Amino acid sequence: MEHQQSGKIAVLTSGGDAPGMNPALRAVVRTALDHGVEVVAVSEGFEGLVAGGDHYQTMSWDSVGGILHRGGTVIGTARSDEFLTQEGRQRASRNLIASNISKLIVIGGDGSMTGAAALASEWAENVAALGERGDISADQAAAHSELDVVGLVGSIDNDMHGTDMTIGADTALHRITEAVDTIGSTATSHQRTFVVEVMGRRCGYLAVMGGIATGADWILIPERPPADDNWEEIMCERLRSGRQAGRRDSIVIVAEGAQDRHGKPITSTYVREALEKGMEEEVRLTILGHMQRGGAPSSFDRTMGTLLGHAAVCEVTSQDTSHLPVVIGMRNNRITTTPLVECVARAGEVTTAVNDRDTERAMALRSPSFSESLSTLMTLLRSLPHPPQPEQRRLRIAVINAGAPAPGMNTATRAAVRLGLDAGHVMFGVHNGIRGLIRGDVDELGWMSVRGWAGAGGSELGTSRKIPNGQECYAIARTIEELKIDALLMIGGWSGYQAMHRIFARRDSYPAFSIPIMCLPASINNNLPGSEMSIGADTALNNIVGVVDKIKQSAVATRRCFVVEVMGRYCGYLALMSGIGTGAERVYLNEEGVTLADMQADLNHLVDGFKQGKRLGLMIRNETANSVYTTPFMAALFEEECGDLFEVRTAILGHLQQGGNPSPFDRIQATRLAKHCIEALIQEAERGTVGARYIGFANGKVETFSLEDLPRMVDTDRQRPREQWWMDLRPIARLLAQPGPSTAERESGEGD
Ligand code: ATP
Repeated sequence: MEHQQSGKIAVLTSGGDAPGMNPALRAVVRTALDHGVEVVAVSEGFEGLVAGGDHYQTMSWDSVGGILHRGGTVIGTARSDEFLTQEGRQRASRNLIASNISKLIVIGGDGSMTGAAALASEWAENVAALGERGDISADQAAAHSELDVVGLVGSIDNDMHGTDMTIGADTALHRITEAVDTIGSTATSHQRTFVVEVMGRRCGYLAVMGGIATGADWILIPERPPADDNWEEIMCERLRSGRQAGRRDSIVIVAEGAQDRHGKPITSTYVREALEKGMEEEVRLTILGHMQRGGAPSSFDRTMGTLLGHAAVCEVTSQDTSHLPVVIGMRNNRITTTPLVECVARAGEVTTAVNDRDTERAMALRSPSFSESLSTLMTLLRSLPHPPQPEQRRLRIAVINAGAPAPGMNTATRAAVRLGLDAGHVMFGVHNGIRGLIRGDVDELGWMSVRGWAGAGGSELGTSRKIPNGQECYAIARTIEELKIDALLMIGGWSGYQAMHRIFARRDSYPAFSIPIMCLPASINNNLPGSEMSIGADTALNNIVGVVDKIKQSAVATRRCFVVEVMGRYCGYLALMSGIGTGAERVYLNEEGVTLADMQADLNHLVDGFKQGKRLGLMIRNETANSVYTTPFMAALFEEECGDLFEVRTAILGHLQQGGNPSPFDRIQATRLAKHCIEALIQEAERGTVGARYIGFANGKVETFSLEDLPRMVDTDRQRPREQWWMDLRPIARLLAQPGPSTAERESGEGD
């Protein structure tokens, strides 16, 4: 059935607040206005929906300015008992109809999705009842025969079917990672044990991913209770043996809903007591609590909130809305829709499985990557690897970092080394990239050699941008032969890929090069083929977004325009995504180039905006957007042409983008990719095949590609893949950052 109803869009945030709700709200409001549809924000969630009156506020373009970086939700959220009753929902329906609203976008957790589903499913019944009672007129009833509902999952728990990530979960992982990294440094100094409680009543996502990201030593989650009744003894014994093996601290992460196999809650206080008894040392407990919800949303949550908010409006305003209600989520890095009832039913099944301690079912209902991550974590947190099998052929696998340093290289190296050792093989680390391979600067690495590397930025092994020439290839072949290397894992960026391709291409001349080779993408530039996201890019984006937030704050008192230059070489990924995350009004990319006419048009927009009261302008440019129209040139041009209307400042962010500890996302992806690489190398070497490949996340799956095809897949001069998926996001970035239909009434613009 096709139908399109006129009527406004309402948007609300409900349940627990989650960072990223504001970017979603901003995108909903601005996309709706861009589509020519009026939009109403309902404050205090379903409570406001039921109460009506002032809770319904018509939104303008500027009413969502300056909120991208703010945590929580600016329109408030609440839990509503009234909405749990049909009577309450009828009142909400009456208010919606009275305000001529026929489309509703709900941003909240599983409870909120259940509420939205209830409202949608009984809409016709409620409209009839309201009509019979005379609460609405016959015309109103006829005009509002349908309510188009879309749900966006905003919840830090990441516990909802229909999306790989919920809005807020990535930011919560940032908070957990920062806290555990900080606790880890004091725990190491004092040789202490720390118990850290994280959120997650029915979902161990934050605990498992937080555990991977921080290199935790033990975890307890709701979905998989410990298998044994004496789990306390086992935990203490494992932690003690970790200490004996050289660990200076022990970190135990407990999800708030952890339980034993009889359904008895495992509280963090109980874990502390058990550890104090078993470890005979001081044990400290930190309950992270609401800190996990707080603070500015991460770059990922800003982008995801923005894309989902935009998609929600496109759904409710589309010609055919017969498939609604749906949940709009992100699966395999792409926007997807799933029927709302299916998502709600699945959430109910998970609750039942967890309450029944049906481990198999509870794990099966989670995404496959959750189970995979849990099993990887259980290996990485071992105090020692499994001993090799008696008859096993022990492969000799070398790990090398190459190209510019990228946050996450150490995480990937640690995971590769430990997973290789646990599978019974001998692991080597090459120092200083290809130079080390030329010089034979290679060491055997043990389990504890990579201790503390999970969260460390930079490259502990050392890296270089060297691409070997003919003679150097000879030296590399000698190193491989002398050390009897059976397989090689290269973790690195553009020059690392080029170096591995050269080694691969010289196989005819050097038989030593006929070993399995894997390239793992690690570069902040995100300019590598085969992978939608390379390790390090998310950290760089968070660094950029964090700094730009501060720059914007610094400019509030003055009328200023900033031209911010970001890295990326010839790839505009960092520029575009940070533009979305910070609300820049213009992003300059090498892919598009910059002309004098572009700059003239942008200047005109700026002048118009500032004349109408705008206080801040933000332009983000990629470092190679145009080699003649440089950042200082652009700033000088704007400054000269704008007269006294505003000042122009430049900020060239430089190497701070590459620095710092890796973001949780980079740590998690690095670990996943390292696992796949090591497994592939082992399989190839055991089979006697010598594939040379690069790996990546493409379409949400881990895929590998032959190094032979590398030249075909990239634009060698521009050092970037021929196809870049994120280029499709440019129209959305432009739409949200444009001055907006209400510029004329603008009282005080906020730059975003
Ligand atoms: P979080 O994931 O942060 O807990 P949530 O959306 O799950 O967020 P809840 O408190 O469970 O938070 O739900 C929010 C609101 O949704 C409730 O206060 C209630 O008004 C509504 N709601 C929840 N369950 C139902 C239901 N079964 N029927 C109708 N409304 C519901």
